[in-house]
Amino acid sequence: MDIAVQLKTLRDELREHNYNYYVLDNPTISDFDFDMKLKELQDLEAKYPEFHDPNSPTLRVGGMVTKNFDTVVHEHRMYSLDNSYSKEDLEDWEKRIQRNLGDVPVQFTCELKYDGASISITYEKGELVRAVTRGDGIQGDDVTTNIKTIKSIPLRLKGDYPEKFDIRGEIVLPYEGFAKMNEERIANGEEPYMNPRNTASGSLKLQDSAAVAKRPLECLLYSIVGKNIGINTQFEMLEKARSWGFKVPTVAKLCENTTQVLEFVEYWDIHRHDLPYETDGVVIKVNNLQHQEELGHTSKSPRWAMAYKFKAEQVFTVLNEITYQVGRTGAITPVANLEPVLLAGTTVKRASLHNADQIEKLDIREGDTVFVEKGGEIIPKIIAVDITKRPADSSPTVYISKCPECDTPLERTEGDAKHYCPNEYGCPPQITGRIQHFISRKAMDIEGLGGETVELLFKEGLIDDYADLYDLTKAQILPLERMAEKSAENLINGVAASVQVPFERVLFALGIRFVGETVAKKLARAYKNIEALQAASVEELTAVDEIGERIAQSVVEFFSNEKNVEAIRRLKAKGLQFALSAEKLENQTDKLAGNTFVVSGVFETVSRDELKKLIEDNGAKVGSSISSKTSYLVAGDKMGPSKRTKAEKLGVPIISEQDFLSML
Ligand code: AMP
Ligand code: ZN
Repeated sequence: MDIAVQLKTLRDELREHNYNYYVLDNPTISDFDFDMKLKELQDLEAKYPEFHDPNSPTLRVGGMVTKNFDTVVHEHRMYSLDNSYSKEDLEDWEKRIQRNLGDVPVQFTCELKYDGASISITYEKGELVRAVTRGDGIQGDDVTTNIKTIKSIPLRLKGDYPEKFDIRGEIVLPYEGFAKMNEERIANGEEPYMNPRNTASGSLKLQDSAAVAKRPLECLLYSIVGKNIGINTQFEMLEKARSWGFKVPTVAKLCENTTQVLEFVEYWDIHRHDLPYETDGVVIKVNNLQHQEELGHTSKSPRWAMAYKFKAEQVFTVLNEITYQVGRTGAITPVANLEPVLLAGTTVKRASLHNADQIEKLDIREGDTVFVEKGGEIIPKIIAVDITKRPADSSPTVYISKCPECDTPLERTEGDAKHYCPNEYGCPPQITGRIQHFISRKAMDIEGLGGETVELLFKEGLIDDYADLYDLTKAQILPLERMAEKSAENLINGVAASVQVPFERVLFALGIRFVGETVAKKLARAYKNIEALQAASVEELTAVDEIGERIAQSVVEFFSNEKNVEAIRRLKAKGLQFALSAEKLENQTDKLAGNTFVVSGVFETVSRDELKKLIEDNGAKVGSSISSKTSYLVAGDKMGPSKRTKAEKLGVPIISEQDFLSML
């Protein structure tokens, strides 16, 4: 078959599957088959770079890194919304509208107000060309590369779309995905994210688009702006956008009057809890776009739209007891144990109190009657104390000064709200937590060994740190509770097999604070073996791309601890991988270190992805847009003229593919 035809067929097919899966929630092939087809396309694209497509489905996996997000002025301003909180507010608004428009029938479209980060996406000739954050409403940041990794956003449209338009929507993080991300963070010894909204908006500004691709973000769209778009009403706009392939929630209703509007509000005030993502109200819009234009805007918001905010759900209950949890990193979290109470559809028994400051701020005490609220956070929070109900014999909460698990005096460093138990190697939950992290799936992935067994082995005095796992014998573990011949064997074999796990995962498994999976990979790449990493100073570490002060400090501290050095020495003796494999090393040099390359256009001898890999493998960075920090622009065929102009203006050298290859 003709390659061009083959590529087109494959791209169209993948596009359709993406749409079925992410927009319609109705996949028609298995994930495996999808991955195989995607792989096939990736291979073909690598082989035939001349058929490059800037909106190919292969872009969904990300990989481009943006250091500085360009500022872009919105062609059409992004306004705020006025808020209303009562029936009266709403009726006043309706009266104002009628006064303005005269005695004509006015309909309203009601939509939910999604709580996330707003985005404006420009399409030209059916192709996604740019995505910009709201910013201050007048100008925002160009986050196109990151946005392209969100699978429910079409890169190419279908149907009878207008030549050029902007579409606005909200980037949200559904509860389920948010909870999963937090599980991972906790596994990495990091603080969990506070709420889905902030996490969604933070995601848009991540430098590594591959990291964005991994986040389960969604984009819900609600408005189209542009000239000659051939649409007459807000409701029609939603339907049209849906037909072009956008994910437009079907929860929208055309209402004849404010009575119907209020019915919609009341219904969703209750049923919003069944939705997979956060909403904080209803947005009511005058349906007729002609009317909208007549009504116009104030300096801040449109006169034709109004947000009706839901009341945050609150209940009061009694705080029975404050207990304290010790995490893997020794961080102490105070927990409010509540008299069970129903809130937003679930029974709440516990709430996080975060830290000592929080307790002091609220002056919260055992026996108090407290207000509990469920906002965006999954875990409910205590927002206030009803002092009038305080028992007469109540006394202020005294924050613990010793670890509840090992009795060691707690420490608190300047600028950190949390208390820590410093007894890293003697505090039971820290010891078992560290070993549990070591064996976890993304770390050493030791088969035949689980979290509970780790606790058991520790209780029996068989292990004290992760290096001890490699000294276990079958005879030692057989007598343990629920341990049989077969399971003992599996455990021993699983531990033995883990010596093959590659260096970057071993590094992650060590449990260095703030060194998650991605950071471990970066460090492994930069230092190549544990000895070099061990010898690195804070200054050297921060020179590595994306390694900040906080991580660098933590790494240096880790290796300055004799216990850790000893554990590593023992693991080394057992044959674990403490250096990158020969195969990985072979292709890596520092020839281009310190440079940032921007790649544009189509290339002859290597594909774009290969070119980028060459750049990174030789120690340089790939930038997504030209700035004063760009060292070179590698120009291929069909490079965009604006890139060339910008490079020339900033004096960035423009080099050819051959020039680049000869640098190596
Ligand atoms: P605020 O930030 O409170 O002024 O509210 C305005 C923001 O609400 C807009 O910028 C949008 O990001 C967001 N929003 C969420 N859902 C909708 C919707 N259905 N229609 C319009 N705006 C919405
Ligand atoms: Zn302790």
